[in-house]
Amino acid sequence: MDVTAPNDESFSIEVILSEGGKTAPCCPHGPTLLFEKVRKGGEKGRKFYACSACRDRKDCNFFQWEDEKVSEARLLAREAENQSKRPPFTQQEYCNQFRKFASLPVEEKKFCQDCQILLLPGEHEAHVSHRSMAVSAAQLRRPSVLLRPLDNKKSNAQYLFTDRSAHFLLDTLVALGYRKVLCVGTPRLQELIKLRNLEQKHEPMKSLLLDIDFRYAQFYSQDEFCLYNMFNHHFFDGEASSAVLQAFLTECDGQKVVMVVDPPFGGLVKPLANSFSLISQTWRKLQSSDCSNADMPMIWIFPYFFESRILECLPSFTMLDYQVDYDNHPLYKHGKTGRKQSPVRLFTNISARDVVLPKEEGYRFCSVCQRFVFSLNKHCAKCNVCPSKDGREWKHCSTCEKCVKPSWKHCQSCGCCALPDHPCGHGQEKEGCFNCGSLEHKRKACPLKDTHRISSHRSNAKSGGKNVSHHPLLKSKAKRKSGAARRAKKMAALSK
Ligand code: SAH
Ligand code: ZN
Ligand code: ZN
Ligand code: ZN
Ligand code: ZN
Repeated sequence: MDVTAPNDESFSIEVILSEGGKTAPCCPHGPTLLFEKVRKGGEKGRKFYACSACRDRKDCNFFQWEDEKVSEARLLAREAENQSKRPPFTQQEYCNQFRKFASLPVEEKKFCQDCQILLLPGEHEAHVSHRSMAVSAAQLRRPSVLLRPLDNKKSNAQYLFTDRSAHFLLDTLVALGYRKVLCVGTPRLQELIKLRNLEQKHEPMKSLLLDIDFRYAQFYSQDEFCLYNMFNHHFFDGEASSAVLQAFLTECDGQKVVMVVDPPFGGLVKPLANSFSLISQTWRKLQSSDCSNADMPMIWIFPYFFESRILECLPSFTMLDYQVDYDNHPLYKHGKTGRKQSPVRLFTNISARDVVLPKEEGYRFCSVCQRFVFSLNKHCAKCNVCPSKDGREWKHCSTCEKCVKPSWKHCQSCGCCALPDHPCGHGQEKEGCFNCGSLEHKRKACPLKDTHRISSHRSNAKSGGKNVSHHPLLKSKAKRKSGAARRAKKMAALSK
């Protein structure tokens, strides 16, 4: 138990998936999720529905007790609100506009930076007072560069792959023989695939982007983009989109499909795993009967300290040593001097020995483990694994009979290894972090605490319906300090 944490910190918010087939009420982001506050002792609180996608009440303040009676008037108001928040155009309309836009002469191709939309000639007038820029054909092919990354930390933070990581992913998929890539929350990968096709040097690959950011709809045709929420497997365009997905997942002429997902890191693992399993099921149903048991090949990009959580939901997955890095991530990007380590890894059900990690970036093949590992991840003869998770060289502790982080020392009174300055006497606690489930750190040190659902429901007591003041989580004190700086500090602490 964490001695310094006040009592009310000893709870977690659990998601309850598909309770007896009851239909959940909808917010602008599709069906909400059912949550339950669970105390450390196991005592459970009143269940409630909240938004699946937004962890900040400022972004979506939907709240409803599970057993609450909702008046007709409120239902109508809710429906009106949901309607008003829908994207202004259907995918078909976006497509038509894009076609018109693409055929314009260069000097008429404009992009409004304030509204983040492509402007047709008739629209220039309405945006004269806005900042706008000319768009070249090359820029039109790189929407992830043109669009301002959403920096809303709690819901939609967009962290774009460095060229290095994006190319590594694409090259890996090509080498593994995949010809269709389902890009879930990976707009930059989709972009790269389309650019590669333009080179006309290789057999073309197909890609379909599923993302909640409707700005991307402007750049793609109906069979290239679907507005999708990966936390509740919701397609905003309904049947039309499900049909697009089905067609994409159908492997004709031996075109193998793979899925690559890069969800927001504050996201809840359980609903994500559930959505990805549903996609896999759809894929399986479309397969010829000989692979009716197979799982759809998948790569899930997420920080290493979620390993236990992910494997709990998807036991056939393994974590690879490859470190994914990002252009605009405050914590994980490379410094100018030398290489900063990134905690972000690939989790996959593709056989680890087939995923070749680049030698020039310091990876090697371990013939015992039959997988590629980072150079500092030395094979331990006693554990018979390459044990490192964080990229540093771990060392074997003969008392614990396992390998531990280099900075840890064996503590006699705790009976296990820990940081030299650990709160001594609490070593038996094996529960790990109550926020994200990692066994690597405690809730207090969780790098995702501020970005996570739990903190969001605590703050902003003002917003929301009239019942919000009874919300159990709103009673605890709001914590709204400097996000990035604080997380940076925690990340630093984590890597000790
Ligand atoms: N590294 C990726 C981007 C990852 S950022 C790349 O370079 O392509 C996370 C992505 O997931 C963003 O594109 C964001 O718009 C999307 N996203 C965030 N929440 C989502 C949700 N609930 N459903 C679907 N996509 C979501
Ligand atoms: Zn919502
Ligand atoms: Zn090994
Ligand atoms: Zn060992
Ligand atoms: Zn101790």
